[in-house]
Amino acid sequence: MASADRCTRLAPSPTGPLHLGNACSFLVAWAIARRHGWRVLLRIEDLDRDRARAAGSQDVPAQLAWLGMDFDGEPVVQSSRLAAYEDAMARLASQGVVYESPHSRTEVREAAAALGAPHAEDAHAAFPPSLRPAPGPAWGFARRDVNHRMRMAPGHERIDDRVAGLHDFEPERTDGDVIVWTKSGWPSYQLAVSVDDASQGVTDVIRGEDLLPSAAIQSRIHRALGGAPPRWWHLPLVVDGEGRRLAKRNGSLSLDALRGAGVDPARVRGLVAWWVGAIDGPGPVDAARLPTLLDEPILRAWHARTRTAPNTVDDRALAWLHGS
Ligand code: GLU
Repeated sequence: MASADRCTRLAPSPTGPLHLGNACSFLVAWAIARRHGWRVLLRIEDLDRDRARAAGSQDVPAQLAWLGMDFDGEPVVQSSRLAAYEDAMARLASQGVVYESPHSRTEVREAAAALGAPHAEDAHAAFPPSLRPAPGPAWGFARRDVNHRMRMAPGHERIDDRVAGLHDFEPERTDGDVIVWTKSGWPSYQLAVSVDDASQGVTDVIRGEDLLPSAAIQSRIHRALGGAPPRWWHLPLVVDGEGRRLAKRNGSLSLDALRGAGVDPARVRGLVAWWVGAIDGPGPVDAARLPTLLDEPILRAWHARTRTAPNTVDDRALAWLHGS
């Protein structure tokens, strides 16, 4: 495949401020794509409208431009794509793989516990097949205001990840049938992301490792919609001084806060290049140089190293960012 046929995307959710962890994943995805001449799309994943509203308005493109990234074409905004998601649901319905699932979380937990399922008491219980409706009117996509699930067939889903290596999942055992449509009248994350990646011609999904298990579910959705899954590249996450994944509580590490504090974006790129192992110590990196520093073997070595030495925003990293 010619490199111009390859395409990746950055898919931020405006449900909280973008932080250094987002910056790391986005910069690496962008740099790999630009190095190889692939297209890079920006997609705003704003379907979690309550959380997006609570987070306030955010100028995501401006934050990414501050970091030196550019995109091909206009950003795609998920909340403008309802018709595409409804069409995908209609296709899944015509194959008989989706059904209405009005059960509350408590009902799901109780049914899972009755089957002796592991973790039935916690939020990670797999949806038990006993709650699947009998063949009949509940199967299909007749209503928009009810949760719908897609049947997960038993069996293994092997993800041959470019960065994280080979991983074997059994989504039917760990998740059970997954929600693809929500009673809010919008698709779930899993459906929306798969429909958009397919319709935008995304060939390479490069994103944080927290979403690796989702690759198994999304691969199933891609195939159910008649397409092939993209190549997967799952990148190590960034943790704070206590070893916890960066989140909203790390407000001072948001991109807006760093920018407001006068941090030079060349230092952010340098920190990322240093974490990845592309440079020996922190040093400023121009946006044009970053793509020349990264390649697939470097990312794999980075992934292996972070099993024991995670990317940490420690005192040295903070001192570097703030100019000492
Ligand atoms: N919007 C998702 C997030 O911010 C990422 C989706 C993806 O990359 O597949 O967590």
